[in-house]
Amino acid sequence: MDFLTANYHTHTPLCQHAYGSEREFIEAAISMGIKKLGFSDHIPCPYKDGYVSGIRMTMEQAPEYVAKLRRLGAEYKNEIEIYVGFEAEYLPEFYEEQMIMFYQLKCDYLIMGQHFTQSEKKGPYSGTPTNDESRIRDYVDSIIAGMKTGSFCYLAHPDIICYEGLDSVYEWEMTRLCRELKEMNIPLEMNILGMGAGKHYPNEHFWKIAGEVGNSVILGLDAHCLEHLTDVNSYRKCIDLVDKYNLNLINELHF
Ligand SMILES: [Zn+2]
Ligand SMILES: [Zn+2]
Repeated sequence: MDFLTANYHTHTPLCQHAYGSEREFIEAAISMGIKKLGFSDHIPCPYKDGYVSGIRMTMEQAPEYVAKLRRLGAEYKNEIEIYVGFEAEYLPEFYEEQMIMFYQLKCDYLIMGQHFTQSEKKGPYSGTPTNDESRIRDYVDSIIAGMKTGSFCYLAHPDIICYEGLDSVYEWEMTRLCRELKEMNIPLEMNILGMGAGKHYPNEHFWKIAGEVGNSVILGLDAHCLEHLTDVNSYRKCIDLVDKYNLNLINELHF
């Protein structure tokens, strides 16, 4: 089957907006010929004021998240390799505590998904349409600052920022993002879920820029349910974009 052999972007029901069990996800991946499956559920944030997020697990749930996936990884080890990590925003107010948790739980990897450039309580969501230049500039600045830590192995949906102002500003900021990440040798993820769900990403303007800069590109399912793990149609549409913009596709990561 023409499909991914590795996917590093898989969620679990702990984030409260994903459906299906971890076991079902693993079995679906095996049936699709995936050999390496990475779980990267939304990272918990250590809020100081008792705030409870409706879109991620709590810090207290993280140990069981990892332990459960390690048990399943051992059980299915002859059929598939299971990796455990998180999808994280880079937010300096939480970063240090999150990294302590990451090392204590002996996780395998982090991907960055900059859904917010400050705590989600303050918002706004990066995908909210805006004409405000400062929003796209902050988005790019926060990603570059986070990537400089060396903690993240790729950037999920780099084109989640929904800037609808001047094309010249979009081009300037996204070229800056692509060049910096190329310099650091960090792949960009083309998001298959976004394609299937008809979201504003993958954004062709962005991928044209990434093609010109010459970034490495990896596909990610961003699976929040079983259907996302078997969406061959959207995978093919992404491959068409990869071909159209002459993108440098990589299939696997090495941690
Ligand atoms: Zn999610
Ligand atoms: Zn995700």
